[in-house]
Amino acid sequence: MNDDSGRTTATRNWRRDARCRDEDPDTLFVQGARQRDVREVCKACPVRTECLAHALDNRIRFGVWGGMTERERRALLKRRPDVVSWAALLEAARRAALRPQQPTAPASAPAPRRRASSGEQGPPAGGSGPRGANDRRVG
Ligand code: SF4
Repeated sequence: MNDDSGRTTATRNWRRDARCRDEDPDTLFVQGARQRDVREVCKACPVRTECLAHALDNRIRFGVWGGMTERERRALLKRRPDVVSWAALLEAARRAALRPQQPTAPASAPAPRRRASSGEQGPPAGGSGPRGANDRRVG
């Protein structure tokens, strides 16, 4: 983006990698439904999180930043007035998403029981199933 206000060293760094760096600003600062098209540029941008955080933290009102239209950002800011630093929040979320998943249940936990349903396929021929050796139905 070509906003020159409040640049910091960190700001300059992420802007260097911006996918839209060489785009004509007139094509990026569009109004209304055309902003949805501009968001496509952001989808593969490597600094999308930094860009969005910058726009939210600095209350930038116009244009598409970090893949969000001005309307979407306004709604987000209204929903979350408690957020002091979007940069910190989004960075923490990104780190959490990149962290390897921990198992949610201990390995010794019993396997979940399966309930037979009409759409469920039966066991292979000769296996124990509703009609197999473990079936205790009478009649
Ligand atoms: S997220 Fe979009 S607006 Fe922000 S730097 Fe990347 S391409 Fe540009």
